[in-house]
Amino acid sequence: MAIVMTLVATLVVAVAAAPAGHPATFDAWLASVIAVLGFRAWNVWRFPRDPVLRLDASPAFLVRFAAGIVLTGLCWAAFVLLFYRDLPSHEQTLVSTVVTAFATGGMTVLASLPWLAMTYTMLMLVPMAVALFAGDTRADLMLGALSLIYVVLSFGTVRMASGSIREAIRLARENANLFVEAVDREARMRTLNTELEHSRQAQIAANERLEHTVRRRTMLLEKEIEERKSYQERLERLANEDPLTALANRSRLNAVLNAAAPAQADSGQSRFVVYFIDLDRFKELNDGLGHATGDRVLRVLAQRMRAVAARALCVARWGGDEFVIVRRPDDDDDEAADLAWGDRLIAALSAPIELDHGPVQIGATIGVARHPADGTNPEQIVRLADMAVFHAKQQGGGVTCAYRAEWGALAEERHELMQALRRAIDTDALELHYQPIVDLADGRVHAFEALVRWRHPTLGNIPPARFVALAEESGHIVRLGAWVLRRACREARRFVGDRCERVAVNVSVRQFSQGDFLAVLDEALADSGLDPRALEIELTESVFAEDTDQVLATLRAIRRRGVRISIDDFGAGYSSLSYLQRFPVHTLKVDRSFVRDLDNGGETIISAVLSMSRSLGLEVVVEGVETEAIRARIRALGALCAQGYLFARPMPPREIDGWLAAHASSVATNPSAAPVLGDA
Ligand code: C2E
Ligand code: MG
Ligand code: MG
Repeated sequence: MAIVMTLVATLVVAVAAAPAGHPATFDAWLASVIAVLGFRAWNVWRFPRDPVLRLDASPAFLVRFAAGIVLTGLCWAAFVLLFYRDLPSHEQTLVSTVVTAFATGGMTVLASLPWLAMTYTMLMLVPMAVALFAGDTRADLMLGALSLIYVVLSFGTVRMASGSIREAIRLARENANLFVEAVDREARMRTLNTELEHSRQAQIAANERLEHTVRRRTMLLEKEIEERKSYQERLERLANEDPLTALANRSRLNAVLNAAAPAQADSGQSRFVVYFIDLDRFKELNDGLGHATGDRVLRVLAQRMRAVAARALCVARWGGDEFVIVRRPDDDDDEAADLAWGDRLIAALSAPIELDHGPVQIGATIGVARHPADGTNPEQIVRLADMAVFHAKQQGGGVTCAYRAEWGALAEERHELMQALRRAIDTDALELHYQPIVDLADGRVHAFEALVRWRHPTLGNIPPARFVALAEESGHIVRLGAWVLRRACREARRFVGDRCERVAVNVSVRQFSQGDFLAVLDEALADSGLDPRALEIELTESVFAEDTDQVLATLRAIRRRGVRISIDDFGAGYSSLSYLQRFPVHTLKVDRSFVRDLDNGGETIISAVLSMSRSLGLEVVVEGVETEAIRARIRALGALCAQGYLFARPMPPREIDGWLAAHASSVATNPSAAPVLGDA
């Protein structure tokens, strides 16, 4: 703006006050002014904002700006000094007006740069004052003096104005900065708002995702809890339930009995009755029709028990085909009513069961014991009920029988031993020892007799004579005998051969006549792969005492298989000798008692047996040879084979090889002597 004004004023002066006398100097002046103005215009064009406001403008700019102002002032000073005096008075008035106007304007415009404003004012007015003082009128002198006074006054004005202008500029600049800052802040605010909105959206999305995850996790957790619950229920069921029949198992039964017993004992409330149920003919059915059918029958019978004993405290499977029901009696202390309930249960269990191949009928025998009349210990009551079943079974079964106190402690002990024996058979806790039967002439080992051994967990070794008799009494002998036969055939495979011809196995009367003995024999042979000729069955005379066609047929069948038969403890029992002609027997084992009583008629009997057997073509084994003297005496009587502690005590299978080796070497050096090993 100032540049344009200066240009206009210059042109006005050039047109209106061009001096007539020095055209060339004036042209040079005009060119200088235009050049200076051009320079200033260029400088401003480089910095289009008002340069005066830019107090912090670069020093280069300020130098160029100041140079432009000073040059402008110098131009006007030159004009005044060169041309003013030669101008007519009206043109002088125009020039002094323009110069004064420029000085005043410059003072205001440049107030922010006081040194420049004062220089400019001086450059404009001092030459003017000089030119006026050179005039010849008073008025010129007055004007010159006024100009100088004006210069001095303007210095003061500039000093005063520059402070407030600088302040105004500073404020304006601050305002501008504040405005820029406000705009900036608003922009930042907008950006922040946008970012805030984005993060809000992101938060909503994240919340939704979180909710979804939480929902899914909750569902999974609920499922897991559900699964755990059903797993726990399953575990509980497994711990308390018989898996086949879904009845209570023993552990559940014990818990029920323990819960019921103390309450009864303390409070004298109504008693409870334990029914021990043993199914009749179930084992035959299970063996004959297979275990799947057996399981089905058990399930049906369990269902019937549950129906009859719907209000009982517990219906449990004791194991195998045995069950226990605990119930409160209908009528206190009425034994007849308790037994009648048992009979009703038997009737329900005896109803035919429809199977695929037709109906089958299973009966039951029940033993009853009562709390607290028969005992207060829950375990004992179950045992007493079990004893009652045993009694009932011995009388043919199919009835309900109550425990009788007069059976006494001895009966209970025997019963317990029987139960323990049954468990021992089931769990393979028995073992066999073997005793050699030796040829008296050359020391050759004819056979090893298998003798069963039972080590009771608390009572220790129990003599076979005791528990075999017990097994016969209880009927367990059938299973015990089958176990012995199977085990002996299997173990004999190891020692039967060159060094020993066969294994002898004791078979009891009841085992022989009950159950399917031939099937058991065949199975043992097939299972072990033992040559039937390497097996000898020892039967006691009582078998032959029965003298039935069935016994004869079975003996013949045994012989047909190549299995040998011997009569054990010969002479100790039944004394009719006629059966020796009728029955197909190979060997007689002379009972130990004759050897013991050798001097009291034993020798005579042994001689008689030896001569009789020779005529019948039977072999003889003399049992119980304990000393060399006895060996010599029976040998002198003509005995060929013997068995006894002199040769060896019964020994476990692992010792047989060693004994055979030792025996062979001692026989080689002295055929009449043999080492004694085995049972102490
Ligand atoms: P057993 O069949 O007459 O067996 C011979 C018994 O006489 C065995 O007694 C044996 O150890 C014993 N003995 C052998 N030599 C001598 C001797 O020199 N002196 C004396 N004092 N005794 C001798 P163990 O093993 O105690 O068997 C007793 C009975 O138990 C057997 O008599 C047999 O009747 C029966 N038994 C053993 N094991 C079985 C078996 O697996 N099944 C059956 N049904 N009964 C068996
Ligand atoms: Mg024997
Ligand atoms: Mg014997």
